[in-house]
Amino acid sequence: MLVKNEERFYPIVLEYLKTCGYLTEGYSESEPKFHFIRLGKRVQADVAGIKDVGNLYSNEIEIAAVEVKDGMHCKVRYIEQALGYSTFAHKCYLAMPIHFTEDDKNYARHMGVGLLEINGKKVSEILSPELKDVNETIMIYFLRRSLNLVKCVICGSIIHRFRSGTKSFHRKNVFEKRKTLFVCPDCYRTFNMPVTDSEEIKPPEVRKEAQ
Ligand SMILES: [Zn+2]
Repeated sequence: MLVKNEERFYPIVLEYLKTCGYLTEGYSESEPKFHFIRLGKRVQADVAGIKDVGNLYSNEIEIAAVEVKDGMHCKVRYIEQALGYSTFAHKCYLAMPIHFTEDDKNYARHMGVGLLEINGKKVSEILSPELKDVNETIMIYFLRRSLNLVKCVICGSIIHRFRSGTKSFHRKNVFEKRKTLFVCPDCYRTFNMPVTDSEEIKPPEVRKEAQ
């Protein structure tokens, strides 16, 4: 009997995403590199990649998440599992080492899920996914908790949370809720800002009424 082992396909699919221009690795607190494979607890994808799809003046990102399955046949359940990633991923794929049938393709097309065929070390996209409207909160959660990526509060760039000088600090808003904010190393240098947790922002001086 053939033993199913989808994990052996993870690096192949990851490499495919990389060749498509996606970032596929990040850094943890102690800075060793890790791949975007099977990350996260509550929000998890088998393989994920993220790319910048903005122009010179915008920071739009696109997340691709791939459900990888071993086996001889595609099941509706697999396509639905891939669709489940659409809460945080703009592009959802199912990858399998098979030739998908017309029925598979039709169902996937209706669900807006892309199909990837794995053949040895080669991956081919045989059905393009539809662009999904992600849930912003879940996407930010996935980026921060699973990929260790955060957004610079000044320039809006996506940055590695645990790498080369990313600063974080806390602020309390009008609702008395504490928020953690991040600043990228470039903005930190550009604005020469000694932000620390203990630093308080003083209210502006009240201007004296003109006499
Ligand atoms: Zn910045």
